[in-house]
Amino acid sequence: MTTTRQINISESEFPARASSSSNHFIRSWEANNVTSIIYETRGRAKEYCELAANLYRGCDHCCTYCYAPSATFQKRENFCNPSVRNDVLKKLELDAVTLKNRGESRSILLSFTTDPYCHLDVTEKLTREAIRILHENGLKVSILTKGGSRSERDFDLLSSKPLLSEYGATLVFTDENLRSKIEPFAARTEERIESLKKAHELGISTYVSLEPVWTAEQSLELVDMTYEFVDFYKVGKLNYNRQQKNVDWKQFKRDIISKLNCYNKNFYIKKDLNNF
Ligand code: SF4
Repeated sequence: MTTTRQINISESEFPARASSSSNHFIRSWEANNVTSIIYETRGRAKEYCELAANLYRGCDHCCTYCYAPSATFQKRENFCNPSVRNDVLKKLELDAVTLKNRGESRSILLSFTTDPYCHLDVTEKLTREAIRILHENGLKVSILTKGGSRSERDFDLLSSKPLLSEYGATLVFTDENLRSKIEPFAARTEERIESLKKAHELGISTYVSLEPVWTAEQSLELVDMTYEFVDFYKVGKLNYNRQQKNVDWKQFKRDIISKLNCYNKNFYIKKDLNNF
């Protein structure tokens, strides 16, 4: 039986808890590499996942709240036109062997500063290869995406190694008009939810990143829409955006904890929200 509780991330290594948006985390990106593509996060980044890899440079989902362009010192228009990192799979494979030889047991997040199922991945298919490489080396992979059905083609890989896999989606909006303005080229929320449901049905561990929170009402409603097939929730807030003033964070924190407890779900409240 699932025990309802707020999990301390350090006590629960896997399934990994992750989100794609954090300035702090992105800043630690290049600086903290322990290998060439897979890198170890530090500080607040560990609230998401201790290891991560970004296969693409940039992301064509073009979310307006995305911190990654400034954090990776790219103009937003360049960031929205992603490219493949040089020799990325070759380097990932070398990294994976290194980590395997070290006996690494932590999961590797795909991804922080890009989306593993951005549109570019439809043709490049790097994420599929990355999953295969990580699995072949006995490493755990944690997917976090707004790609919706684009991600489903790799569910066969994830479901074939359920102990080495988890699948997460970032959910922000129930209002599709708003979603299409703020996350213009990401999958519709409904589609992301459908992918979560399919992953769950295939026995893949699922999680939702409720970060950023645009309005309290929408994030609360997203829990109502997904609790039956989502194993874990990670809740943050919105930062560095004018919209954050429109949310009563103290009240939201109370309401989201109450709702998640009511549904008997495991969850993690990020420190920046937990401080309220
Ligand atoms: S999906 Fe892409 S554009 Fe949107 S927040 Fe994530 S990395 Fe940034």
